[in-house]
Amino acid sequence: RAIAADLDAPHEKHSLLTGKDVWRQLHVFHGELRELPDRRAHELIGEQARRTPHAVAAVRGELRWTYAELDQRANAVANRLVAAGARPGDVVAVLSDRTLPWVAAILGILKAGLVYLPVDPAYPHSRIAGILRRSGTRLLLAEVPIEPIADVPVLPLEAAGPTIDPQVSVPADAPAYIYFTSGSTGEPKGAVCAHAGMLNHLTAKIDDLGLTEQDAVCQNAPQCFDISLWQVLAPLLVGGRTVLVPPQVILDVEAFVSTLDRERITVLQVVPSYLEVLLGHLDLSPHQRPAPRIVCVTGEAISRSLVARWFGCFPDVPLVNAYGATEVSDDTTHEIMRALPATELVPVGRPVHNVSVYILDSQLALVPFGAPGQIAFAGICVGPGYINDPDRTAAAFVPDPFRPDQRMYLTGDYGRWLPNGHLEFLGRRDEQVKISGMRVEVGEVENTLLRVPGVRSACLVVVPIGTSKRLAAFFTADEPVPDLKRRLADLLPAHMVPSTVHQLDALPLTENGKVDKAALVAAALRAG
Ligand code: ADP
Repeated sequence: RAIAADLDAPHEKHSLLTGKDVWRQLHVFHGELRELPDRRAHELIGEQARRTPHAVAAVRGELRWTYAELDQRANAVANRLVAAGARPGDVVAVLSDRTLPWVAAILGILKAGLVYLPVDPAYPHSRIAGILRRSGTRLLLAEVPIEPIADVPVLPLEAAGPTIDPQVSVPADAPAYIYFTSGSTGEPKGAVCAHAGMLNHLTAKIDDLGLTEQDAVCQNAPQCFDISLWQVLAPLLVGGRTVLVPPQVILDVEAFVSTLDRERITVLQVVPSYLEVLLGHLDLSPHQRPAPRIVCVTGEAISRSLVARWFGCFPDVPLVNAYGATEVSDDTTHEIMRALPATELVPVGRPVHNVSVYILDSQLALVPFGAPGQIAFAGICVGPGYINDPDRTAAAFVPDPFRPDQRMYLTGDYGRWLPNGHLEFLGRRDEQVKISGMRVEVGEVENTLLRVPGVRSACLVVVPIGTSKRLAAFFTADEPVPDLKRRLADLLPAHMVPSTVHQLDALPLTENGKVDKAALVAAALRAG
């Protein structure tokens, strides 16, 4: 907190930038300018399908769909949705595992000018209902027959329908998708992104990773994590293929490595904690070394030692540190590493094309070049905000001081420019933490604990385990609260459920009366 206050202090000097500083600022703020095609991603994928109808587009296990087959199935989804009464701009939720029909559903929703909202069938029912209600979802596509949830009519994910392209015209600034992330008030918030921001990210991945029709991109991210979207769509824009890897394979690292090998995966993106698991496995079986040609890490800070281990194992395979947020159409900076960086912290890189990065003080003024401050993103990547949530939108999306007709997104992250114009990530301003790369707002878990009958006070702490971390919850209650973990699992997605819960007579306090989190972390470590 003391450091946070320091980093947030207004910078006296910002109005006194010298000419050279201004030039450097202008130079390093912006990614390259790149003109994007005046078409939506699904139209470009449709054009690709006409160019290479027989090429493999999507793979899952033994199942393979060509571009022509995928395009026809996507058209069928689009036509069914229109026939069911969905109108451009309506939200359509998809309750499905990551399967080939799920890929067709994403494309079909976009083709019909609708807004894609993924929901994970493993989520608690109450959370799914809350997400559908908050987003005003119009229709739900479900993999298996179910009753309507939150009064939203259900259509089967797979069914026959006319396969001609519905040719709906979709403006570039129309919303394309919504991802719900953890919200500190106790309610998840739905970040909306537009077609233009999505296409910018997809083309940034294509350019910076050099994607071509030769590539097989691993689709391993959960469907409620926005990186799943580029893993599906970016290869389809260039004639490559997306290879869907089911969760049970990801959990079994040996099976995952075999899949990388068998499917000749060339491009992989994982969170650092999974990269560590992968390297641990490869260390033990050095003979089994599938070599993607490029690997991306994202979602949370990667340690220098893990990067060193990577290059020790794969000296010729570049590692890309990709940084961004759901609110700004996913990754907005890329650091493309071909060797271990010289800096102690692994840089997050340069803004991708058409994206600007500002480092700001508490008054939202620029800090001098190299000084730490809050990272803000501006440009085409900035989404319209949180669905049906004007207050949280207004707090995080504020006018861009350099382009008054546009807005910038305040990340809540600290960072600074390195002398070479690359960005360094310095941590969070608030209590958002990452568990396996997925966002957890401490406040959301604590508020959920407080909703359990009998719980009087609650505190969530992050406990280090090796280079990884887990969540531990401490609470006080009038009486013993049986099965608290199970009750939390009924309310929260699995990655937000604390791995241990501990009932205390009273939460320990520091001298100034705040909950003593350090003491709780120590207690959680002792309890094991
Ligand atoms: P994503 O767009 O990758 O899905 P989320 O919206 O889940 O990301 O979370 C965004 C936050 O995650 C960022 O504000 C930052 O705190 C953290 N983050 C993402 N990528 C990185 C990275 N490469 N290094 C450090 N932190 C990261």
